[in-house]
Amino acid sequence: MKPFISISSLVTNLKCSIKYLYEYEDSTRMTEDGVLLNVPVIRQLYHWDCGLACSKMVLKYLHPISDQDFQSACWELKLTESVWTIDLAYLMCHLGIRHQFCTQTLGVDKGFRNQSFYKKHFDTEEDRVNELFVNAESKGVVVRKCSVTIHEITAHIEQGHVAIVLVNAVVLTCDLCSLPVKYCCFLPAGQKCFCRRPEYQGHFVVACGFNSSTGCIFYNNPAYADRVCCTSITNFEEARRSYGTDEDILLVFKDS
Ligand SMILES: [Zn+2]
Repeated sequence: MKPFISISSLVTNLKCSIKYLYEYEDSTRMTEDGVLLNVPVIRQLYHWDCGLACSKMVLKYLHPISDQDFQSACWELKLTESVWTIDLAYLMCHLGIRHQFCTQTLGVDKGFRNQSFYKKHFDTEEDRVNELFVNAESKGVVVRKCSVTIHEITAHIEQGHVAIVLVNAVVLTCDLCSLPVKYCCFLPAGQKCFCRRPEYQGHFVVACGFNSSTGCIFYNNPAYADRVCCTSITNFEEARRSYGTDEDILLVFKDS
């Protein structure tokens, strides 16, 4: 038996209560009304590598490779500090992992040019990213222009598969982590703050479980190394469908 995530401490804190835990396959925890896959949590090292950290989590879960092989793949694909979802799809393809990248825009959405999050790299990245889309099919990278429903995501997880999801980190709120400290101003709680806050902050997380009776989604956030996070389906939907994400989702399959 492989070691499990120590979820006993997690379970005691879960607002989404997990009842009747029992073992399901080697690497899955299943409840009467939900699933929590044993996807290891790996913390990102820099501000820009959340996508690579998510890829490492997924790989460690379904197809362990050495750090050296992972690094070589990143070098061969010339992954830089600007990692887009299409880069992660190429990475999975390169490593022989069955995948499907779903997005609303096949290429770069011109509308993002004026968003501060994208501004920095937009012009240099636009050609590179569009070329990756054009060449995807010939390279064996599976890309589809489609919207994935939450039902499709939970059905995917139920089969032991995982997904790397692009979210707006400004919107995504974990029910288990304590609220972030407000550094911007010292207004009493409940009063509206008018300090500037970015509207969009792209961030990758790994969807790895759900509880259908409480309506929550479990996900690994590479910003943390020690926890599985949890949010309502409503909040998860808002965060992944937020303007700027293109609803990017990289479905990754266990049987690869
Ligand atoms: Zn959390």
